[in-house]
Amino acid sequence: MTDAAHAAMWERLDLDLEAHDALLAVLGKFYGDIYLSQQGRLKGAEYLDFVLSEVHGLRIREIQEAKAAGKKVVGTFCVFVPEELTLAAGCVQVGLCAGAKAGTELAETLVPRNTCDLIKSFVGFKLARLCPYIESCDLVVGETTCDGKKKAYEAFGELANMHVMEVPQCKGPCDLALFRSEIGRYKEALEKLTGKAVTAEALAEATRRVNAKRRALQRLGRLRAADPAPISGRDALLVNQISFYDDPDRFTAKVNELCDEMETRIARGEGVAPKGTPRLLLAGCPMAVPNWKLPYLIESSGAVIVGEESCIGERNSRDLTDETPADLEAMLDALAERYMKIDCACFTPNAERLEHIAALAKELGADGVVHYGLLFCQPYAHEALKVGKAMEAAGLPYLAIETDYGMEDAGQLKTRIEAFVETLA
Ligand code: SF4
Ligand code: SF4
Repeated sequence: MTDAAHAAMWERLDLDLEAHDALLAVLGKFYGDIYLSQQGRLKGAEYLDFVLSEVHGLRIREIQEAKAAGKKVVGTFCVFVPEELTLAAGCVQVGLCAGAKAGTELAETLVPRNTCDLIKSFVGFKLARLCPYIESCDLVVGETTCDGKKKAYEAFGELANMHVMEVPQCKGPCDLALFRSEIGRYKEALEKLTGKAVTAEALAEATRRVNAKRRALQRLGRLRAADPAPISGRDALLVNQISFYDDPDRFTAKVNELCDEMETRIARGEGVAPKGTPRLLLAGCPMAVPNWKLPYLIESSGAVIVGEESCIGERNSRDLTDETPADLEAMLDALAERYMKIDCACFTPNAERLEHIAALAKELGADGVVHYGLLFCQPYAHEALKVGKAMEAAGLPYLAIETDYGMEDAGQLKTRIEAFVETLA
């Protein structure tokens, strides 16, 4: 697409063109510094570079073409929204979480200052008219996970057509029943949006497609157990970030190609860092595009990241949805069961997350765990303390970091990370 064609499309979406140009310029520079400077990248990373370079270009055009053909676009902020149902309804699903400081002053007119940057960012992107994904949405789906999000949706609902799913906070039988009924309510919202019923055939097909995507991500995750590490943590994070907005079938095919290349690389004993480089598991809050600060600081401090215990990471691909039910109601039951396995810090109690982190660190041969908490995120700040104790019990060195989207603390964080990595060498 030419620059003029891009600009015309953004204008039709009513973006603030000047501010949007400035955002893309910063994003391009940031990507160059953090991604294109890496040594020994996989050839398949060209896909990642292309998708990122066209993040507001070709993918948005595809979405506009889908809309012109009658499809509806659904935006989400959380892995609790079942993509299987969205696809079964014939809609396009896109993740709307944002990882950059933008429109903060505007956002603070709708949400309190002591709100995490993830929330401020999506509110800010909307108010500053910077995100072509938000502007393309016919329906935005929120969820009652943390307090910050559910209160923010009250304000966001004045700006967009919203449906809010109630996510329980515990995991007893009544909570499963509640979420099952919310799955039914989401199905009805989609049917109202499209004017068509979701059929068992469509849901079975959509479940296969979403599971195929998860299987590709699981395959990629398992290959990261190799030493030397076949892919950098930065590129693996980008794969997970892209999974929220690229076409699901293209994404699955490209990730499987990337895995083929990784297998060849592993067979040759090659990697992105020398064998024996300290290996870290990153756990905690999700990192949305372009929140690459911490992975960059870690990987420029002599370590390599071998896994992400996060919703933009392993938590989103760990569990498959049962494909065996044949009737619609049983398929919806299977969805409720699959989604209620998610171990988000919003649940209480949430002991399984501690077990998952220790098991994942072991599977991936991690030498230590870094916990990332987003400033003002209460659920993950509480769990950072518990994860620390669990890692001590598992004999794994641990570093808890709390930060935001700003770069002001980069120097200080790098000093702490370097000191931590030195103790692992
Ligand atoms: S961390 Fe919790 S609230 Fe955030 S995307 Fe994951 S499940 Fe949703
Ligand atoms: S990072 Fe924490 S506070 Fe922010 S949206 Fe996620 S769960 Fe809520």
